[in-house]
Amino acid sequence: MAKQPMLKFVTVERDMPEKRAAEQRREDFNEIYAEFAQSKAKEQSGRCSQCGVPYCQTHCPLHNNIPDWLRLTAEGRLKEAYEISQATNTFPEICGRICPQDRLCEGNCVIEQSGHGTVTIGAVEKYITDTAWEEGWVLPIKPAQERAESVGIIGAGPGGLAAADVLRRAGVQVTVYDRYDRAGGLMTYGIPGFKLEKDVVMRRNDQLAQGGVTFELNCNVGEDISFADLRTKHDAIIIATGVYKSRDLTVPNSTSKGVVRAIDFLTASNRKSFGDAVPEFDSGALNAQGKRIVVIGGGDTAMDCVRTSIRQGATSVKCLYRRDRVNMPGSQREVQNAEEEGVVFEWLSAPKGFTEDGGKVSGVMVQKMRLGAADATGRQSPEIIEGADYVEDADIVIMALGFEPEALPTLWDQPELEVTRWGTVMAEFTSGKTAMNGVYAVGDIVRGASLVVWAIRDGRDCANAILNELATPKQVAAE
Ligand code: FAD
Ligand code: SF4
Ligand code: SF4
Repeated sequence: MAKQPMLKFVTVERDMPEKRAAEQRREDFNEIYAEFAQSKAKEQSGRCSQCGVPYCQTHCPLHNNIPDWLRLTAEGRLKEAYEISQATNTFPEICGRICPQDRLCEGNCVIEQSGHGTVTIGAVEKYITDTAWEEGWVLPIKPAQERAESVGIIGAGPGGLAAADVLRRAGVQVTVYDRYDRAGGLMTYGIPGFKLEKDVVMRRNDQLAQGGVTFELNCNVGEDISFADLRTKHDAIIIATGVYKSRDLTVPNSTSKGVVRAIDFLTASNRKSFGDAVPEFDSGALNAQGKRIVVIGGGDTAMDCVRTSIRQGATSVKCLYRRDRVNMPGSQREVQNAEEEGVVFEWLSAPKGFTEDGGKVSGVMVQKMRLGAADATGRQSPEIIEGADYVEDADIVIMALGFEPEALPTLWDQPELEVTRWGTVMAEFTSGKTAMNGVYAVGDIVRGASLVVWAIRDGRDCANAILNELATPKQVAAE
């Protein structure tokens, strides 16, 4: 009888790919985890108990067929594992790297719930598709048949690109418009290389371009081309513009030189990694080298800012968050990585204003907080502790307080585009249909700041809805 490769969770312990030493990773922007060796990927996949009702799959936004690709990996059938993995996920190697697995698939694995340590689903997913790229199994899209219909997609982030992929595979003519010079959205200019190396994103952009997706980069819709013009050019439009308006603080001296926005800081750093000319970085305005940095916020963007500052050579990096560690929105894994790298967290600390010297920020006036009674959702609200204020010295203060949508109906002069009271575009969740005929919306611009995996899910669902809506395919006349 063949040797049983699965159900090894009792005898084999959970193991992640090797993590580089903190001292080493402080020095560069490379990813911090190595790749599994094949034997390790097989061994770790073999820990899965092949649940009849796999909660890992239920809690993956893409409902990836996790038990099947784990089994195939454990059996060494990697090409088949890749085929199954890519059938439901446009960018499996990206999700394997940056999904908050502890809240999604892995956090709901029954092995984790039974105290044996989750199956390392994300690391295996990354391993499968990285191997597929190395082996040449990832091919450019080749539609069986070209169709005459065209779809214009505004925004080349994961939502727009996932939709482009599905539509193009069906032979639809796809043009993606983006105001930046590179595609990828926040995967390119927001998320730092130590979580997601940039060549991983660029090879996906190349794959789409080679498969016939047209990219119109450096094209800001609303400025370089009007939304109304785009509608006349395409049979359908998908809005996938993300959310970029930073939440600011209105406290004394919040406009001082040296108080900067997280997205500007991270974009400058990512551009520098590409080798671009970045004057604001070179001038020191968005460069942490030799400076005392204070980051305000407790989400994943704040974690990316503190860890970027360490790598740029800051003399000290502190993170202020108004609640405690347990109640912070960012991933605990990222906090641990940051602490290992030398970041100091000041929990229960909120900014009351900034001190300045000659128009330049010199510190943060900090109010100490305690957690009060729980609100209706069970979350405890922070309360000020009177008389415990102090000043935290700083040369640069980075505000990482979250993002809001830009006012698209006004920017694009499209009052019929309905938005919610939060300013996100109102769209059906399953199809992305908006109030305007032939106009769809996906990703963060619909959900508010969310996750790459949800943007992929939306993009795929929306593309499938458009394929259903388009009339019987019009064939492109033979050349
Ligand atoms: P985006 O990725 O924001 O892409 C939108 C694109 O639209 C951009 O390229 C923009 O240039 C373009 N655009 C906007 N307006 C116009 C216009 N008028 N004309 C033309 N183009 C336009 N998620 C995770 O899952 N894991 C993480 O670890 C993670 N880390 C993050 C770290 C940071 C710092 C940030 C800010 C976000 C992070 N996220 C993470 C969230 C994730 O990046 C987003 O949820 C996801 O990228 C949203 O995808 P999207 O396609 O909706 O929009
Ligand atoms: Fe887990 Fe994300 Fe992969 Fe789904 S896409 S299996 S949630 S890592
Ligand atoms: Fe395997 Fe865990 Fe998913 Fe069950 S929940 S199928 S053990 S990965």
